[in-house]
Amino acid sequence: MDFRDSPEEAAFRKEIREWLAANMPTEWDRSQLTLIPPEDRIDMLRAWQAKLHEGGWAGINWPKEYGGRGASLIETAIFNQEMARMKAPPPINVIGLGMAGPTIIAHGTHEQKERHLEKILSAEEIWCQGFSEPGAGSDLGGLRSTAILDGNSWIVNGQKVWTSLAHLARWCIFLARTDTTAPKHKGITYFLIDMQTPGIEVRPLKQITGSADFNEMFFTDVRVPRENILGEVNDGWRVAMTTLLHERGTLGFALSVGARVALDELIQLARDTKRNGKPAIDDPIIRQRIAALHVEVEALRLNNYRALTSVMRTGIPGPEGSLGKLIWSESMQRLGDLALEILGPAGMLSKWTDNPRVQTWQYIHLRSRGHTIEAGTSEILRNIVAERVLGLPKHK
Ligand SMILES: Cc1cc2nc3c(=O)[nH]c(=O)nc-3n(C[C@H](O)[C@H](O)[C@H](O)COP(=O)(O)OP(=O)(O)OC[C@H]3O[C@@H](n4cnc5c(N)ncnc54)[C@H](O)[C@@H]3O)c2cc1C
Repeated sequence: MDFRDSPEEAAFRKEIREWLAANMPTEWDRSQLTLIPPEDRIDMLRAWQAKLHEGGWAGINWPKEYGGRGASLIETAIFNQEMARMKAPPPINVIGLGMAGPTIIAHGTHEQKERHLEKILSAEEIWCQGFSEPGAGSDLGGLRSTAILDGNSWIVNGQKVWTSLAHLARWCIFLARTDTTAPKHKGITYFLIDMQTPGIEVRPLKQITGSADFNEMFFTDVRVPRENILGEVNDGWRVAMTTLLHERGTLGFALSVGARVALDELIQLARDTKRNGKPAIDDPIIRQRIAALHVEVEALRLNNYRALTSVMRTGIPGPEGSLGKLIWSESMQRLGDLALEILGPAGMLSKWTDNPRVQTWQYIHLRSRGHTIEAGTSEILRNIVAERVLGLPKHK
């Protein structure tokens, strides 16, 4: 693959770079990520996505007829690279833009597209993903929430867990069993549920970072209009595969640039922090570990190009996306671990430090624990790589 931009790609990169430089919210400072009260961040992030939308930069890979830009895979990758390079805030409606919207575009009725797509792009309505349950995570097909048709409504009952953004969401993509006698992956239907419907209780779950970005959800006799399903009754597994393909789809470049930015900051931290009277970067062990991380981050970047080449050839995201997510999540953990070691005892003073740099590394270190679980655990991703990249026998 040729890593250089074509003249058109270079022009596109310049356009997004200039737009970001002119429009980034002035109050946004990534180094103060953990200092900004979450509720202020939400208003700011909502306003930011609305601005992206006005500028034509929300959902850029969506077709033009649905409010997107019809951007190619390469352009989407460039957009994600530049957003990460500028440390631009991510759009708040990540699940709407990256998962619910593309699934509605692929499987929705005309009315569903008219009702939802514009409000997803503008962040007027935030979405959450109600897939995982206490007994169904990696083995999602084992989900036990149910929906029973009663006249013109479905009556939905069940419990969901780890639902990011549910406390802010107006809508939820939701899987429930509609035929309890069918085999595991059959008999599931895909619902679009208004979170303001009576019978839905959202309870925040406090994370190791101290914030509560995800939740438990309890659905008790929730009445969902009959037409609020995506695709056919009992065909929800096929529809859910569209959502999950998009989950790991085009984010690879943002992740790899994010890891590069974090590594550069780690190198600066090692330059600025003294250990035994000398800058930490002079310690040969620390230098070796930084060099190893550099190799990982570079491998991640090249793997993303490999994934992009393969999807451009076949039209379908291949197993390389799983490899990228696996390397990224584990590299971010190693980056966070090394940063805290460099910081030494200061790294342990969570509630007592007002140093934004220390707080940011603590946040990265703690948040990275979840990276190896969300969007496919490392073990599941290793299974995929073993079977689909290395051709090893299927696990039982
Ligand atoms: C930060 C974060 C945000 C999330 N947001 C959402 C969300 O918005 N919506 C949503 O629906 N879900 C969300 N999740 C849930 C996430 O999808 C699940 O946690 C994940 O799929 C794993 O499922 P589980 O937690 O039930 O673990 P389990 O599937 O029970 O796994 C437990 C352990 O067993 C291992 N394991 C399981 N099966 C196998 C196997 N076949 N081979 C080898 N090892 C195996 C796993 O790797 C893991 O180590 C989120 C999770 C996190 C951490």
